[in-house]
Amino acid sequence: MEKRLGFGCMRLPLLDQNDQASFDTETLNKLVDTFLAKGFTYFDTAYTYHSYRAEEAMRKALVERHHRSSFQLATKLPLRDLKDRDDMEHIFNEQLENCGVDFFDYYLLHNMGSNVYEKCCKYGAFDFAAKKKSEGKIKFVGMSFHDMPELLDEILVKYGDRLDFVQLQINYIDWEQPNVQACRCLEIANKYNKPVIAMEPCKGGTLVNVPKEAEQLMKAYNAAASIASWALRFAASQQGVFCVLSGMNSIEQIEDNIALMSDFKTLNNEEYDIIEKVVKIINDNTAVQCTACEYCTHGCPKNIPIPKYFALYNSIMRTTSSFSSQMVYYNNIAISHGKASECIDCKQCELACPQHLPITKHLKAVMEKFEKNSIIPTRK
Ligand code: SF4
Ligand code: SF4
Repeated sequence: MEKRLGFGCMRLPLLDQNDQASFDTETLNKLVDTFLAKGFTYFDTAYTYHSYRAEEAMRKALVERHHRSSFQLATKLPLRDLKDRDDMEHIFNEQLENCGVDFFDYYLLHNMGSNVYEKCCKYGAFDFAAKKKSEGKIKFVGMSFHDMPELLDEILVKYGDRLDFVQLQINYIDWEQPNVQACRCLEIANKYNKPVIAMEPCKGGTLVNVPKEAEQLMKAYNAAASIASWALRFAASQQGVFCVLSGMNSIEQIEDNIALMSDFKTLNNEEYDIIEKVVKIINDNTAVQCTACEYCTHGCPKNIPIPKYFALYNSIMRTTSSFSSQMVYYNNIAISHGKASECIDCKQCELACPQHLPITKHLKAVMEKFEKNSIIPTRK
């Protein structure tokens, strides 16, 4: 059984990890070429990815270097950024220009959730996308959804006739997580016969760098299988999922993913049992379930690099040694960014977080860990 693998463009290769627009063009071109050469065609970008520069990067790496009929391009309407109804038209036209195309194969209402749903209804975003489809500017309309199953149900009842598919966060760690409920969301999409694209199968890398104990379990069962392959196979094994997105930024990753998806095998019961154990181990070892999507950072008045701090925090919480390099990293980052203690509790970040994390509460824990006994260099 073959399933589609999509090239996720949220984490493209960069020359400087602190500059989201410093694309490593040479590597990106190679990744795109390898992906297409192996017969895969689906690319998923968005207006907001990489500080609003990913669409342009994909125009240069993909659209300007390959025939339009050789790939499918998906991008997304940034619901969060809409200030009025007219913004949809402006942004859509800008996106066509950014990407250098005259139509999108797949177009999604981006990051749908209760924080933007009302605005979306008021501005007629579902009708807007349907109109663009009838004009031939979009082939398939969908939405990327990050909220509770009840809202998904409500949207599919009201606007299901305007949606060809839904994109859901499907991975084994979020399967039963109360703040994501991936399993229930998928059941609802299946109930309304909406084909599903799985996003975040590796949860922003969390399911690639699993704790040692979890890795040993997986390797003992199948030494040849990569840790990431378990996550991809889990997402692709679910009923109704026709495509799994993976953010690939090395040739090895692409080759591993392609090999897996070209000869795709559904997980067996023994493998599901191992995953259940792995979930427990990861949950016991992960303090903050952040996917590093960066949605929270754009509006932060204090320029606090929230996901970077959470990654350091998760890492330090797994460390047993009294000295940790994470402390050094924290101090370095804090020179040019807001410290966790500078948070003013405005909660803009929490409204934007698709994982519904209590960010301000976690930042307090970050502050306790990294700032209490540490001398942080003062910013000028
Ligand atoms: S609550 Fe804190 S971290 Fe969140 S946006 Fe406001 S200042 Fe930034
Ligand atoms: S805190 Fe939430 S919005 Fe911010 S990077 Fe993590 S998952 Fe994304």
